[in-house]
Amino acid sequence: MRKIVIAIDGYSSCGKSTTAKAVAAELGYAYIDTGAMYRAVTLYLLENSISFEDLPRIEQALHEMHITFKRNRKTGRNELCLDGTIREDEIRQMRISNLVSEVSGIPAVRHAMVRQQQRMARKRGVVMDGRDIGTTVFPDAEVKVFMTADVLTRALRRQEELAVKGEQVPVEDIVENLRKRDHLDSTRTESPLRRAPDAVLLDTTHMMIDEQVDFVLERVSASLFSLAAAGGEHRNTH
Ligand code: C5P
Repeated sequence: MRKIVIAIDGYSSCGKSTTAKAVAAELGYAYIDTGAMYRAVTLYLLENSISFEDLPRIEQALHEMHITFKRNRKTGRNELCLDGTIREDEIRQMRISNLVSEVSGIPAVRHAMVRQQQRMARKRGVVMDGRDIGTTVFPDAEVKVFMTADVLTRALRRQEELAVKGEQVPVEDIVENLRKRDHLDSTRTESPLRRAPDAVLLDTTHMMIDEQVDFVLERVSASLFSLAAAGGEHRNTH
């Protein structure tokens, strides 16, 4: 069967990655968490004491660092590696969440990440989540979903995720972080967060994960059906 690209964009903590992972598992596709890549760049800059203003040094750092994903055999999940070491826990910490949108707004960082993301999905058959997948990384994605949800709902979900990892954060701090990131992500000049004209809107405020996954899978079936139909027509007319 033909393989397609599924782009899931939207605001922070709307359930994009949980939905994307489940959709990928259902279809046997690869899942690529592009937010993790921007988080890894942020971690690298911090650990190497590189100022977010020092553009020449950042360009050099982008050549030096190696961002990859490694499949965890136990959980079946892709884990982010920076220079060969799994750094999943560190990149999800609040100290990174508080700085990542500043780093992801740097054009050189975006160019390097977008290029890598396009290379990773050359063979298609991927579900990619982020902020600019349907607009910049894969404007030709066959399925595009734009996710949103009420900010308090998002903050409570994020609080629970952090608590599971042992980090207790007051909900107000998370709301503030989400608002700040939404603002920075939507107003930056380079590939800002916005809904692609052909992306379908999915508000997850009152939805369970299974419903979100079913919603995306229905769009995938519809897309594969119309591609097959168009392929059939194509064959009939030639
Ligand atoms: O998805 P997550 O919340 O982990 O993303 C962290 C940050 O990475 C976002 O707030 C945004 O600044 C940046 N990002 C981006 N473009 C993407 C994915 C994430 O700018 N495609």
